[in-house]
Amino acid sequence: MGKLIITAAITGSRITREITPHIPITPEEIVQSAVECWEAGAAVVHIHVRDPETGLGTQSLEIFQQVVEPLQEKTDLILCLTTSGIPGRNLPIEERLAPLELKPELASFDAGSINLGQSVFINSPEFLESAAKKMKDIGVKPELEIFDLGMIVTCLRLKNEGKLEEPFHFQFVLGTPWGAPATPESLLHLHRHIPKKSTWSVIGIGKGHLPMSMMALIMGGHIRVGMEDNIYYTRGVLAKTNAQFVERIVRIAGEYGRGVATPDEARRKMNLNKKMWNNKDTLNVI
Ligand code: ZN
Repeated sequence: MGKLIITAAITGSRITREITPHIPITPEEIVQSAVECWEAGAAVVHIHVRDPETGLGTQSLEIFQQVVEPLQEKTDLILCLTTSGIPGRNLPIEERLAPLELKPELASFDAGSINLGQSVFINSPEFLESAAKKMKDIGVKPELEIFDLGMIVTCLRLKNEGKLEEPFHFQFVLGTPWGAPATPESLLHLHRHIPKKSTWSVIGIGKGHLPMSMMALIMGGHIRVGMEDNIYYTRGVLAKTNAQFVERIVRIAGEYGRGVATPDEARRKMNLNKKMWNNKDTLNVI
């Protein structure tokens, strides 16, 4: 079984300081938290940024730059930028795809629509085709976010139409109130339907975090942690930092006997093109 890739989802777009005082909001806080996760063993960080006025998610290229540039200087992390904006608010397609201008190695690709709370997170065929085309044109690998089986069917269909290319990297999102549950049966069922040469990772929302992480550990999948998905470290106890989640998975994987992938090892596993800036000799490691 290969090494484990840990992704840290630092902040998401919706969790406010009222919900947890520990959520990173400003670019500086997001950078600091991502660096801590990298030091703890994360190979990938999934990045949203926040509007300084509202405190909620924004697709502002300028604010993304304030996070991406320092992380490229300080770390060799793989950056996965969001294209979701604020799920349920359904920003225009161009605005959602704006962060791709920064040419990250990965970007999220929500492979279908789903109810979220009292709203709908719309990922129309038009959005999917625009996102797939732009990512292909500029060499960004889509991270295929899967909330139910139909979204895998959608990805396979886009592949047959030449719009998405293998090898795929899937991110199963399990345990949202309206999507596939965070259960072993659910994960096994989805896993059975992805192409063999794919890599995959799992997000267990809320209390699904640890059970789904353990499933990924034993099945040879990879794990996403972080406050975007889960704000509690244990029942009723808020996590103080994102790095706490990374540290716990590193400890468990170590006891289990599965090594943790460095960013470069993760690049090879996910077939990413190593970037020019990722040159160890010139890295200003803090
Ligand atoms: Zn996200």
